[in-house]
Amino acid sequence: MASHFLTRDGSTWMPEYLTAIDGMTCIGCGRCFKVCSREVMHLHGIDESGEILGVCDGEDDDFDGELSRTIMVVDHAGRCIGCGACARVCPKNCQTHVAVDKIVA
Ligand code: SF4
Ligand code: SF4
Repeated sequence: MASHFLTRDGSTWMPEYLTAIDGMTCIGCGRCFKVCSREVMHLHGIDESGEILGVCDGEDDDFDGELSRTIMVVDHAGRCIGCGACARVCPKNCQTHVAVDKIVA
């Protein structure tokens, strides 16, 4: 895998992929989802103990279990292009990004 890429003007570009979101810190604000063009993460409901109940589909979410709060979950990490947009809008700094040259295939 190439360790860096080029932008249109020939500058080097190092993609930094989103690999994880800390569910203890995430407030489920949805900002990262809104700026991501790749559907890498989705809002999920969790119960009091932190167990994931299911994905929030924006309608009348009906979970098996009592919803405590919502968090963002990286459920399609392979779609990420490492643009970094999600990191710039996160108010809680709870995302982990890994540079392409540090990713083990
Ligand atoms: S780095 Fe870019 S592509 Fe990857 S999850 Fe964040 S916004 Fe989406
Ligand atoms: S922007 Fe940050 S706090 Fe908000 S949902 Fe995404 S990861 Fe969670």
